[in-house]
Order: sequence, then C-alpha cells, then structure tokens
Amino acid sequence: MVEDHNENSVTRREFLRRAAAGAALTAGAGLGLGLPAALAGDARPSAGMKYRVLGRTKLKVSELGLGTIKTNNPAVVRRALDLGVNYFDTAECYQGSKSEIKLGEGLKGRREEAVVATKWHTNGRTPAARLLKSLDKSLERLGMDHVDLIQIHGAGNVAQVNSDELWEAFTRAREAGKVRFNGVTTHGNQVEVIRAAIECGRYDAVLPSYNAMIGERVGRAVREAHEAGLGTIIMKALQPAHEGKAKRALAKFKGNAHQQAIRWVLDDPNVSTVIVDMPTFDELEEDVAAVTGAASRAEMEEFERGVAQIAGGACHLCGSCTGQCPRNVRVADIMRYSLYHDGYGDRARAVELYRALPAHGSAAPCRDCSECQVVCPWGVPIRSRLERAHVRLA
Ligand code: SF4
Ligand code: SF4
Repeated sequence: MVEDHNENSVTRREFLRRAAAGAALTAGAGLGLGLPAALAGDARPSAGMKYRVLGRTKLKVSELGLGTIKTNNPAVVRRALDLGVNYFDTAECYQGSKSEIKLGEGLKGRREEAVVATKWHTNGRTPAARLLKSLDKSLERLGMDHVDLIQIHGAGNVAQVNSDELWEAFTRAREAGKVRFNGVTTHGNQVEVIRAAIECGRYDAVLPSYNAMIGERVGRAVREAHEAGLGTIIMKALQPAHEGKAKRALAKFKGNAHQQAIRWVLDDPNVSTVIVDMPTFDELEEDVAAVTGAASRAEMEEFERGVAQIAGGACHLCGSCTGQCPRNVRVADIMRYSLYHDGYGDRARAVELYRALPAHGSAAPCRDCSECQVVCPWGVPIRSRLERAHVRLA
C-alpha cells in the first residue's frame, strides 16, 4: 500500500501536539518529570535527565535508554547509570549473545537502579518451552534473576503478536518471577504489528522504528499505543542523521544531527523513551546532552525541513516493498541491513543478518532480472541499492 507522503511536513508536529493535548496522558508521562517516586529500581537523579512513564507498567524510564547492539563496555553502562540513564535494552542475539553478558557486568551491584529489557524470537508457532529456555539463558548471561520487560524480537506479522505459545511462555515466566512485563519490537509492517499489539491486550509496551524520516505514518500508531496505555520505546531515532547527505544539510542546526534526531523523537509526548546504541563514552555524553538540553519549536521545525531535503531517494523503512518482488527478494529487510552497514557503520551485523536470509530472500536474483517490479513510494532506486547490498553483504 502506498503511504501518505506528507509525513515530513511541518504540520506533522502540530498534528502530534494536538493529538497529545486531546489525549489523557498516562499519569506522569510527558516532558520534564523529575525523579520518579516509584522507579522500577530507584534510579538516582542526574543533572538534567528527565523521566517518563512506560505506559501501564508505571515504570519511570529515562528519556534516553541505552541500546546494546554494539555497546560492549561495562564501564560505559555504569557511566550511563551515573548520568541518569535507567533503561537498558539488549537481546539474546546481539554481539553473538555477549551483549547480555556485558550489560550484566555493567549493572552488577546496581541492578535495582535499572529497567532491563531483553527479547525472544517467535515465528508465532515457537513452543512455549523453547521460549522459556531462551529466557533462562538470557537471565544466566545477564546474571539476573529477572528482567523487567521481555519482547518479541522483530515481529513482522499479526500471527507472531497473537501467538498463544508466546502468551503461555510469558504468563509462566511472570508467575515464576522471571519477567514483569511483555512487549513487542518491530521494524516490518510496523503499523499493523503495533495495532495488533494494542488490540490483543496482552502487551505492555511496543518498540518500533520511528524518526523524523519515518514520521507520521508510525507516529499515529505510536500515539494509539500510548493512548491505549502501552509504553512506547523508540529505536532508529538516528536514521536521518545517518543518511549520507545529512551531514551537510543538517550541519547548521543546534548541536549536531544526532542530537537533533533524538530531540525530534522526544518532542513527541506519546513517546516513553528513545533507545540509542552508545558504545563509547563520547557518544554517551553527547546523546545525554541532547536530552538534557531543550530544543525550541523553531529549531525542531527547521530540523524537519532539513530532513525533508535529504529524504528524497532515501529508504524510510516504510515496508511498502514487502512482498512485492515476484522472486521473493526480501527487499525491506535488505534495505534495513544496508542502513546498518552504510549508516550505522555496523558491517558485522549487516553481513550476519544478510547471510542469515534464506537463499531465495537475498538480492542475488536481481542481477538477472530484466525489470524491477518493486515500487517504492519514496523513489528509492530498488534494483541498484539491492545489487550494491549484495556485493557488500553476501
Ligand atoms: S525501499 Fe522504499 S518501499 Fe522499501 S522500505 Fe524503503 S522506503 Fe519503504
Ligand atoms: S530487481 Fe527483480 S529480483 Fe530484484 S527486487 Fe526487483 S523485481 Fe525482485
């Protein structure tokens, strides 16, 4: 389905503001909360860090959370705690399972200060027993007796969201005290997945990709989730800052493009927290500065105009190309892996994911295809991007 192309217009901010004003915000959510009285852990306040409520979990989470796809230094984790970051996201597969180990090392002795989220994989039919085993292994690596949030990793369809096996696994894990809340992460068919999570009533939080390029299309679903009482955790906030053209186009704005990209997402009051991978002390300090400093309305709108300038021909991760290729090339997935490679500089992860695609899902058939039949509403030259991705990632 072709999506609304006007999502980057400046009226989008007004749309969100009006929507948020009309909605009853989750108690305490929104900008500028002081230190929570009922933190999951009792995170210590740090200069300027702000906290929001993670939906119906009532957990108070820092506006900036630490992602750990690349972050592997326990000292950075501890520094993040010192700076007031209390939300930590990991997954059983990040860094070949080392992410959980390193995060656990960083939080050792300070577990009560943190809200910890990890993930498990289901295709919708994955047996509950296997999911529970996966959780046990995660807890072992983390060195913890429980995590606060367990999430489906990368749900792309409604069957995964509605899985009874998963619900059974979560219920049993919660009864055993191994997990407190249930969530869904998604970067494919995001709107459909978020709405399914809202409708089925089994989830406490969603974690989609959302940023100034993706815009209102996902922003609407994020608002719906927030209004339904789900926590809204955002990933890929930095995507606009990673576009090749961004450096020049966004250079004139206050701070740097990364900081603006983070502020843009947090300008949406329907967002609970933004998770960003911050492997180094410098990146951590820079991103914390982004959320502790305020951006004016005019600056945000100027940033949106800058993003609109760089958006043409760039992948918006909209997923509209999913299922379009008659030869079953997994176009949307490959575009995302290309972002990891070209934008985030994470070649290892991009290559690992690409090589894990089923043989028929790679871009190998593109070389022999007479005419690409995939239509991108954002004008991404699909065939040339796929051919390039294959050369770099195969
Ligand atoms: S290539 Fe185009 S259609 Fe596919 S995800 Fe990116 S923006 Fe959407
Ligand atoms: S070039 Fe051909 S094989 Fe490749 S994505 Fe387009 S339609 Fe599919």
